[in-house]
Amino acid sequence: PSTDGVRVAVRVRPFSQREKTSGSKCVISMHSRTTTTIQDPKNPEHRKTFTFDLAYWSHDGFQKDQDGVFISADPSSQFASQKDVFHDLGRGILDSAWQGYNATLLAYGQTGSGKSYSMVGFGANKGITPNVCEELFQAIEKQEGNEEYQVTFSMLEIYNEQIRDLLSRTKKPGGLKVREDQQLGFYVDGLKSVPCENYAQIERLMEQGTKIRTTASTNMNASSSRSHMVITIQFKQVFLDSDLTKQSSINLVDLAGSERQKSSGSEGDRLKEGSRVNLSLTSLGNVISALADAATGKRVLHVPYRDSVLTKLLQPALGGNSRTTLIAAISPADICYEETLSTLRYAESGITWAERLLFCQLPAS
Ligand code: ADP
Ligand code: MG
Repeated sequence: PSTDGVRVAVRVRPFSQREKTSGSKCVISMHSRTTTTIQDPKNPEHRKTFTFDLAYWSHDGFQKDQDGVFISADPSSQFASQKDVFHDLGRGILDSAWQGYNATLLAYGQTGSGKSYSMVGFGANKGITPNVCEELFQAIEKQEGNEEYQVTFSMLEIYNEQIRDLLSRTKKPGGLKVREDQQLGFYVDGLKSVPCENYAQIERLMEQGTKIRTTASTNMNASSSRSHMVITIQFKQVFLDSDLTKQSSINLVDLAGSERQKSSGSEGDRLKEGSRVNLSLTSLGNVISALADAATGKRVLHVPYRDSVLTKLLQPALGGNSRTTLIAAISPADICYEETLSTLRYAESGITWAERLLFCQLPAS
């Protein structure tokens, strides 16, 4: 089920140290570049196979090179490295940007499943976002026409339905507000959007934003796993000879952990916080399924973009002139079976929607 415009990918990570020491078994297998099979550890005969546009095996078959980068151990290994993932998913985002389409990449999955690893990466193993930014500037430098390029970078966090600017040291009480403009649609009022001339600048901003995110969550005695992070890169091409412009925004979204909040022990603020995390993910799912229903000819009175801050911000990306990729990050371990299955199901609803979205365009409600 592959389409040009919208894609769903799944990626399975290696065992964590904890999974290894507790003797975890791997319940995931991938038999082609598109299929993922999950086996019920309590009932091994019970298997379910999902087909997505892309399936990335990053569980084993790798080694570290001299820089600490994980690469394929041998040519026969099905191992997918950060570069492999970037090659498939990041390049498409860049192509869209050059053509003037918006592009959105969302990472979904339970905490610890590898969302941030794919989106941002750790150390030498750079993820999609830094690779996209680096290649964007490399490509700009190679251009020779009479054109001007503008790149701006912004980074925010949605926590408890409040928006925090991750590039600003001063925290606005109550958070930044989402406003609606007839032309622009939804936007975040007062969000910093920093013009960048090169990749090093973006790298610094990303570091700064990540630091603020971590400090903020530590101060609130919370975990950044309960917040969504949205990086937006605005790319504008001005063709000086013709006065034409092309504009694209690239959204890179590291979603909050999809795990169900435990009901025992979470009370008061924790509970409220938990239900709000799920509100965003649920409303994202609702928007997706409303679009899918509409596309299959069902009568849909409205697409519930307004139900959460996240869906408001992503409205142009989900409904309009945009290419969207969902990457579902999963753990290989038997102990995560239930959460992994639910992640795969969520991604499956994404693909139904993705296939059909191409044929329909709905007005925002
Ligand atoms: P999440 O953002 O979903 O909570 P992380 O991206 O932080 O999860 O990943 C959890 C841990 O697993 C990290 O230590 C990370 O380095 C490691 N990890 C995740 N995916 C991979 C991968 N594909 N290859 C190697 N290590 C990974
Ligand atoms: Mg993370």
